[in-house]
Amino acid sequence: MNFELSNEVKAIQKEARRFALKEVQPRVEEEHFKRDLVEKMGNLGFFGCAFPLKYGGSDLGFVAHAVICEEISRVDSGLRSLFNLQGMTVPYTIMEWGSSDARQHYVQELVLGKKIGCTCFSEPNVGSDIASIETQIEDKGDYFLLNGSKTWISNGTVADIAVVYATHDPTLKHRGLCAVVVETDQPGWQTRETPKLGDKSSPIAEIHLKDIRAPRENLLGQWGGGFNVAMTALDRGRISVASGAVGISQACIDCCVDYANTRIQFGRPIAEYQLVKGNISEMVTLTEAARLLVRYGTWLNDQNRPFTREIAIAKYFAGEVAAKVSGLAMEIHGGMGYSLELPVQRYYRDAKLYQIGEGTANIMRILIADDALGLKKANRQRLHVPSEFRDL
Ligand SMILES: Cc1cc2nc3c(=O)[nH]c(=O)nc-3n(C[C@H](O)[C@H](O)[C@H](O)COP(=O)(O)OP(=O)(O)OC[C@H]3O[C@@H](n4cnc5c(N)ncnc54)[C@H](O)[C@@H]3O)c2cc1C
Repeated sequence: MNFELSNEVKAIQKEARRFALKEVQPRVEEEHFKRDLVEKMGNLGFFGCAFPLKYGGSDLGFVAHAVICEEISRVDSGLRSLFNLQGMTVPYTIMEWGSSDARQHYVQELVLGKKIGCTCFSEPNVGSDIASIETQIEDKGDYFLLNGSKTWISNGTVADIAVVYATHDPTLKHRGLCAVVVETDQPGWQTRETPKLGDKSSPIAEIHLKDIRAPRENLLGQWGGGFNVAMTALDRGRISVASGAVGISQACIDCCVDYANTRIQFGRPIAEYQLVKGNISEMVTLTEAARLLVRYGTWLNDQNRPFTREIAIAKYFAGEVAAKVSGLAMEIHGGMGYSLELPVQRYYRDAKLYQIGEGTANIMRILIADDALGLKKANRQRLHVPSEFRDL
């Protein structure tokens, strides 16, 4: 077993930390989307770790993607959300499942941060149960036509390119699902921003799709094969999300160490009290355990081995840890935890998302238990790798 990051991964981790402190930290309280940071991160190669050179990537691998997500989230969890969309679920799904035209057209632009992407699963009546998606897709010969509504779409108000999941026949449930790439500069693409608790630098939208068109070559996978596309996208998205959860937990440790060493009560720094030490030790232990689970699930992906089960375990655990650790961080800060002057309240608000997005904690628990009970094997082969990609 080798737990050491490679020198290349250590170097990009250091660069991500430097960027987060220099470019992200000074503007972290600005609660809006920052397109210039997307472009800078694209230029620095932060989104391209899992992509080959021909698509603007660096081929450093998924572990490199995970450590960058962790470092960015350690400063701004909302900005980490971008990594899912620019460096994983949108471009990677297009690269894995798209036609050669779609790959040429979209992947590099997303990876370099020149275009903004979003992924559209959720709808007013559909969250965890994506086989029940109601948005309609019709085959019109030369093109596909989409109509419906989406909710909770990260980057929805700013995206240039969307991977939209829709059904050609709702009675077929998961066998009716299709995944298609849509360009958003169409009059029928109407968005409205959704106010939310945390992740303020990541805009969320409700989207109405009215007669949205997509060319035939933008279909991902097979007609009616969108469920498999969705499952691989979610597996990969869980790498970014779980890494973000670890980053936020680490941020909580960082600020608690500073605070506990400097806050004096009863004549001593509170760090000297055993109950405070108990909280710190729990935070560190849980965070280290989450980090190892995330790195293991991600490493399996780098080895081209099945990783659905392992990344679900990692995402579930890291999400629970982020929520728990950020609560402990609030406690260590006493009244100042409740103040808007310190970032700990932001970590607490942002951490909650990690129990929801990319499959809720319950959905992860079902996947893990079904696998353990022999009811449904998690690590099934789902991927149909296009031949051109396989040769890369
Ligand atoms: C900040 C944010 C960003 C998001 N970004 C995106 C995005 O970019 N694209 C996108 O498509 N979606 C996005 N989402 C939506 C997210 O994926 C969904 O919120 C999530 O999948 C859960 O769906 P839901 O909210 O409808 O909850 P529901 O599915 O309605 O679940 C409600 C509760 O019931 C539980 N539950 C549901 N089914 C079961 C079951 N069978 N057994 C046990 N418990 C169950 C859930 O675990 C949960 O606790 C985002 C959400 C948030 C909050």
